[in-house]
Amino acid sequence: MLNNEKIPVGVLGATGSVGQKFIELLSNHPWFEVTEVAASERSSGKKYKDAVNWILSTPLPKDVAELIVKECEPNLKSKIIFSGLDSSVAGPIEEAFAKEGYVVVSNSKNHRMDKDVPLLVPEINADHLELIKAQKYNGGCIVTNPNCSTIGLVLALKPLEDNFGLEAVNVVTMQALSGAGYPGVASLDTIDNVIPFISGEEPKLETEPLKILGKLSKGQIINNDIKISAQCNRVSVVDGHLECVQVKLKKKASIEEIKEAWKNFSAEPQKLNLPTAPLKPVHYFEEEKYPQPRIHRNLDKGMAASVGRLREDNLFDYKFVVLSHNTNRGAAGGALLCAELMKAKGLI
Ligand code: NAP
Repeated sequence: MLNNEKIPVGVLGATGSVGQKFIELLSNHPWFEVTEVAASERSSGKKYKDAVNWILSTPLPKDVAELIVKECEPNLKSKIIFSGLDSSVAGPIEEAFAKEGYVVVSNSKNHRMDKDVPLLVPEINADHLELIKAQKYNGGCIVTNPNCSTIGLVLALKPLEDNFGLEAVNVVTMQALSGAGYPGVASLDTIDNVIPFISGEEPKLETEPLKILGKLSKGQIINNDIKISAQCNRVSVVDGHLECVQVKLKKKASIEEIKEAWKNFSAEPQKLNLPTAPLKPVHYFEEEKYPQPRIHRNLDKGMAASVGRLREDNLFDYKFVVLSHNTNRGAAGGALLCAELMKAKGLI
């Protein structure tokens, strides 16, 4: 039964790793309710419970379990669409929906760098939503969420950029297996191993923060000019990307001033008390062994960046570690927060 006070939403790629996280986070959501699910022709026509290999520890929501999986055609009744589609197909499908007047909030890389598409992190660049006015879709629009390792990085960088300015960033990631989708990387490749390559990941980490931390001017984004170097590794962790970061600042800052900047960081989602917003976007840990994926990935609804080990660096100014949940903050939770911000701003 649809609760009439909630906005019906559809999930594309609902059977995948991110799609399942959408279903989990949207069950009992105060504003949105999943009324349609869609995936590939392998799944369409089946009941969701028969099409999906449910890998989350929470039970599959009963109402969604009985939904018939639809094809990813722009004939869904729900006008708000969350997309967790494989990037090999997401581009044209999302565009087709937007052209038919749907609001598409996507996790896929395909439209992230389009000039008129916001690459949105609600705590950082809520003003970039302005871009959707320039989109040439028929009342519809596409809003995207960054790559799952970009998100933790930019949440930690934003207070540094605002308070001291950033000149250069070096980042080395240790990324969880769920970031590769399901079934993802073969177990024989990952057990007792680290894979020092994730296809296409390093360029995303080196470019997406420049757009996110860019300035909106006359309806366009002027990219930030921070120099970023990234190396990405797949490690044998289920959820949660850990990143070792070195930063060179434009203005001198003490360790205490940096910690203070992280501690004081709060933005529109917190002010608006959006349902999926973390109480604090950045949590700093003084314990020298923290943050750790298994212990901290679900902190603050799995929506916060956990930061620790801030210390001086011989090559850059400072180094630290940041952790964020890749399918939650880095995918479905992040996209949900974007949609909540859009609703709060009257764009949905
Ligand atoms: P996944 O587990 O492989 O799921 C892919 C989904 O796409 C499945 O629902 C699949 O449906 C559907 N699909 C595949 N081919 C299709 C087709 N031809 N037509 C319609 N649907 C099709 O992948 P994922 O990890 O959830 O990632 C989904 C997207 O989010 C990707 O673009 C990924 O880069 C991005 N992302 C992932 C993460 C993460 O941490 N996993 C984080 C950020 C962003 P079937 O089950 O029917 O095949």
